[in-house]
Amino acid sequence: MAGVANDKPATAARIYDYHLGGTHNFPADRAAAQAITEMFPFVPLLARNNRAFLGRAVRYLASQGITQFIDVGSGIPTEGNVHEIAQEIVSEARVVYVDIDPIAVSESLDLLAGNDNATAIRADLRDPQAILDNAQLRKIIDFDQPVGLLMVAVLHFVADDADASRSVTELLRPLVPGSHLVISHGSAEGMQRDLTNLDSAQDVYKRDTATPFVLRDRAQVGSYFEGLDLVEPGVVWLPEWRPAAGDPQDFTDRPTESGGLCAVGVVR
Ligand code: SAM
Repeated sequence: MAGVANDKPATAARIYDYHLGGTHNFPADRAAAQAITEMFPFVPLLARNNRAFLGRAVRYLASQGITQFIDVGSGIPTEGNVHEIAQEIVSEARVVYVDIDPIAVSESLDLLAGNDNATAIRADLRDPQAILDNAQLRKIIDFDQPVGLLMVAVLHFVADDADASRSVTELLRPLVPGSHLVISHGSAEGMQRDLTNLDSAQDVYKRDTATPFVLRDRAQVGSYFEGLDLVEPGVVWLPEWRPAAGDPQDFTDRPTESGGLCAVGVVR
């Protein structure tokens, strides 16, 4: 990992990796993750349930004929990466992973070595045009065909509401009808837990990483899908989106407590 430019000691990608039981994390990431888990012990379960939603959504998109994916905020490769899931259903599926974290990108590139149908690029979603103009992305993604745009567990790292909305709008702009948008997002709407420590948990990201963490409510998450047709069951809690056999059961009887809202929409 030496030589990787990273001016903050912990990153959202590696904190998430730790929550998922991965090994691509450093002491600062583990300390930040443990501080959060001490306040909110359910967070590793949230990560697991989010990852399960990502898998179901990718399977759904592939079943709808989507063969190319742009995965923004893709994270460090772990179990059930998008190209692996998509290629189980459509062997020629193409995927571009996009992340702000250089380690997430380099680990993805290592995993994808020799795979002509997938790559990883480093970019900040707050500069959506740079993503769309990226030459490597354009080699893999054909904008004349429907695209699956994945923004899973990433928009909550964009603190500015206008930046987050603009990014979604701009990334959707070149996508042809039949393209799909997949989003999951941290939310505490209606949560029954004691949220006294929420500010302190958010302070961990503010203090230790370059990506502060913000929660949004159902109306805000729904607003990203304005002008799209929402796929049933609409904007719901993670375990509620088209549950499948083998899903984690942590929040099945109390979905609000999962801490994540999600939805899939189709470009008209
Ligand atoms: N999408 C994967 C998933 O749901 O399993 C990984 C989600 S992980 C919680 C969030 C990822 O978003 C991290 O890898 C982080 O580096 C990335 N990220 C945060 N802010 C970003 C930004 N402005 N642009 C691109 N990626 C960003």
